[in-house]
Amino acid sequence: MRWLTRGGLVAACAVGAGTTWGLGWGGLALLAAFFLSGSVLSQLAERQGPHRTARQVLANGGVAAVAALFGAWAAAAGAIAAAAADTWATEIGAFSPFPPRLITSGRRVTRGTSGGITALGTLGGVAGAATIAWLAHVLGPRCAAPGLATVTGAGVAGMLADSLLGATLQGKYQCPACDARFERANTVCHELVILTGGWRWLDNDGVNLAATLCGAAVALVGSH
Ligand SMILES: [Zn+2]
Repeated sequence: MRWLTRGGLVAACAVGAGTTWGLGWGGLALLAAFFLSGSVLSQLAERQGPHRTARQVLANGGVAAVAALFGAWAAAAGAIAAAAADTWATEIGAFSPFPPRLITSGRRVTRGTSGGITALGTLGGVAGAATIAWLAHVLGPRCAAPGLATVTGAGVAGMLADSLLGATLQGKYQCPACDARFERANTVCHELVILTGGWRWLDNDGVNLAATLCGAAVALVGSH
């Protein structure tokens, strides 16, 4: 099992160090729980373990690390809960007997399409957020441990933001020759794919970053 590219490993070490510096070992344990649970779930779903790049690691863990450096337990926990909810939803949703529907229109979409959700995956995402919330509650400082409902809600809000952005503003691409759909610019199918919707600069990593930011913001507001 190789989980990270070389750059991804460097980024993961930076995120881990920043989080530990700001929040202590409890913060690192929270990050590790997200990372390990996501890896185990993707093994169970028998998906090709993604070798995460530095960009992907920072998109998922960067907001938590920055919040940690400010000593903001609730915000860091909310960001990690959002990342966990999204990961658990994706991996557990792979077991859904029904194909996903687009969160905005309800139209059926093929598996793996950004913005597509399943009931099973959504339940899995809520479970992921609740797991991180429980851990944050146990590991957080006794006087200022973030509330269970607050962090769970932050994680779920982040997951919904991820799906909404994935369905609307995230860049969508199509092969001009065969109409196959893609989510990455610079993909060559029969020809170079062309942008058919969304914003060119907003890819899956950007959406993940926005989702964790949303999780952090909801947790911050909810804990005051
Ligand atoms: Zn093609």
